[in-house]
Amino acid sequence: GDEELDSVASHLPSISTSRIERRWGDTTPYAAKKKLQSWIQLPNGDWVLGKNLTTSSSESIISLPDGKVLNVKTESLIPANPDILDGVDDLMQLSYLNEPSVLYNLQYRYNQDMIYTKAGPILVAINPFKKVPLYGNGYIEAYKRKSVESPHVYAITDTAIREMRRDEVNQSIIISGESGAGKTETAKIAMQYLAALGGGSGIEYEILKTNPILEAFGNAKTLRNDNSSRFGKLIEIHFSETGKISGANIQTFLLEKSRVVQCTEGERSYHIFYQLCAGAPSALREKLNLKSADEYNYLMQSNCYSISGVNDAEQFRIVVEALDVVHISKEDQQSVFAMLAAVLWLGDISFSVIDNENHVEAVTDEGLHNVANLIGCDAGELKLALSTRKMRVGNDNIVQKLTLSQAIDTRDALAKSIYACLFEWLVEQINKSLAVGKRRTGRSISILDIYGFESFDRNSFEQFCINYANERLQQHFNRHLFKLEQEEYIQDGIDWAKVDFEDNQDCLSLFEKKPLGLLSLLDEESTFPNGTDLTFANKLKQHLNSNSYFRGERGKAFSVCHYAGEVTYDTTGFLEKNRDLLHLDSIQLLSSCSCHLPQIFASNMLTQSEKPVVGPLYKLGGADSQKLSVATKFKGQLFQLMQRLESTTPHFIRCIKPNNLQSPGLYEQTLVLQQLRCCGVLEVVRISRSGFPTRMSHQKFARRYGFLLLENVASQDPLSVSVAILHQFNILPEMYQVGYTKLFFRTGQIGVLEDTRNRT
Ligand code: ATP
Ligand code: MG
Repeated sequence: GDEELDSVASHLPSISTSRIERRWGDTTPYAAKKKLQSWIQLPNGDWVLGKNLTTSSSESIISLPDGKVLNVKTESLIPANPDILDGVDDLMQLSYLNEPSVLYNLQYRYNQDMIYTKAGPILVAINPFKKVPLYGNGYIEAYKRKSVESPHVYAITDTAIREMRRDEVNQSIIISGESGAGKTETAKIAMQYLAALGGGSGIEYEILKTNPILEAFGNAKTLRNDNSSRFGKLIEIHFSETGKISGANIQTFLLEKSRVVQCTEGERSYHIFYQLCAGAPSALREKLNLKSADEYNYLMQSNCYSISGVNDAEQFRIVVEALDVVHISKEDQQSVFAMLAAVLWLGDISFSVIDNENHVEAVTDEGLHNVANLIGCDAGELKLALSTRKMRVGNDNIVQKLTLSQAIDTRDALAKSIYACLFEWLVEQINKSLAVGKRRTGRSISILDIYGFESFDRNSFEQFCINYANERLQQHFNRHLFKLEQEEYIQDGIDWAKVDFEDNQDCLSLFEKKPLGLLSLLDEESTFPNGTDLTFANKLKQHLNSNSYFRGERGKAFSVCHYAGEVTYDTTGFLEKNRDLLHLDSIQLLSSCSCHLPQIFASNMLTQSEKPVVGPLYKLGGADSQKLSVATKFKGQLFQLMQRLESTTPHFIRCIKPNNLQSPGLYEQTLVLQQLRCCGVLEVVRISRSGFPTRMSHQKFARRYGFLLLENVASQDPLSVSVAILHQFNILPEMYQVGYTKLFFRTGQIGVLEDTRNRT
């Protein structure tokens, strides 16, 4: 058994993680199976299907599709499935559930535009990067009438609606995957189906229109995806007792606000800035003193202004129309645009050195005047807030001048806060518009579109939070799946000892334990005035080195052993991002302006009821108004999210990106495999492997293999025929279970029967 596991593992491409590798392989000695076809791995990591010409216990001769003949060690072969299983629409139907077989099956379907495949209870969606003819009213009707059965987002959404009605339990559709894998598109497809089935009141139209708004303000072009969501989103769609949509509520998570002031070459800031610059009508342009996008410092740094195939001016029109639909008044819209322009103009404010200690002062230029006008404050006060900092030393108030880098940080912090508050305010307004009345008696279906596990060459605070969230979701996923498996066995009356499944609780504890977990230690260090990224990293190493999920790395780095692989985090910027400072001076400035901001700030910045964890800079109106650290706020949101999800029946969709070029038709095996591992598809398969993954009804089994029997059984019932087949082929008792309606097999067993059948 175990040697075989190792030999299979040695064939996996190097991206694999050791913990996952160990789970693979088939427990039956390979030579005993006399397979007809096997998987051979090429030097580039891809797998090809070879025909076994001869097989002995030590060596096999294999012919490859290109005509080459290889002599290989038999133990290195991985069994391939019989041809009848090519392109099955549920991976669970595969007799051999090894990685190349799963990859091949998905590719086989993908090549025919069948981008959806089930893996037991979960739906796998592979991004086609082109229009596929699978959507629209015709298809919606067909899935509604259940006249088509192939896996689809519509099908899983339909199941959610049915189960909501049948069981009177709220449902959730949890979509995950890497950036560019298709989560947001998938979420929209699910919403489209819900709107079609639950529509009628008109509110469904409003709900669909929240998409262009949130995408304009929360999505941006990145190197991975031209329309990348830079926030997580949960939309809860409510249904009345009559099954009609009655309203919705949106919750967002962790908007990447650093993008507003800084983005990498070739990427863009949030779409709305370019849309505003390109599409604002002339009266608005004049009012905001708008320049074109390529004239603003914040937008200039990445040297990328347009997206191929996208017309920003036209998009602006669409966004304004959508804002109208969700009842954001024209007046509020004007304020929103003024805030956006203020953010852009902030980036154009420059500083000049005023003394020989390198202190600076904001220059009274076009930028400063425009910002002051747009947010409605005095230009002098703005200048002061950007050039000095009031501090309290003992009983005295002193005013400290700023250096250039301090002044720039202050300015950028202001721009980021304005944008983040604007975003939250918008979501709040949308929620008011979509609100379900007080008599909320019906049920809901929630759709979660959230960033998947991330592991880059350099991982920072954002990846740290995202991967923490994914650990939580993974636990939810495991527990649910495990329960489902168990239920199906119990329902069919079969006896099964509990399968052992790997819980990721230990990794979660590494994050959450108090006082010595990653999050607590981060918060603690964030409150120390002298805390730095280095002292934080050292503290982690000091307290957590004995934890097997943690490893201190050289310098300021550390690694965490996540369920999806090990990730090394560079702590540079952790403390600053976690504190997310906005100085008192800026807060006071914003609370005094005559625009929407005070009201926006009042609701977002300073109303945290939980115990404050970040320092004294925030004191404004007493202890209650201090601000939570970013990590703590995120953890709180996540707990709330999990609580909400726990009370629902979940449906999982895993989106897969087949290539990094956003291009149709290209299926890179290594890339797909890595994602299958990370998003838990192979995990489902693994959990099932420890049970009886192949299921076939007595009837089907008897029909398919009955003719192989030596005696005539035509008159017997399907169950007796099935048992006779099992006996004749010496299928060992531990390899199957007979349920009330189905036969349950360990992996690989059906393959043996299929081979016999094909040779006959
Ligand atoms: P991110 O995490 O960066 O937000 P994402 O997983 O939400 O990424 P999407 O924005 O949904 O990814 O998809 C990226 C692009 O892939 C889309 O803009 C679209 O061009 C294409 N795409 C995704 N799904 C489909 C689909 N079902 N049909 C056609 N094209 C699709
Ligand atoms: Mg997205």
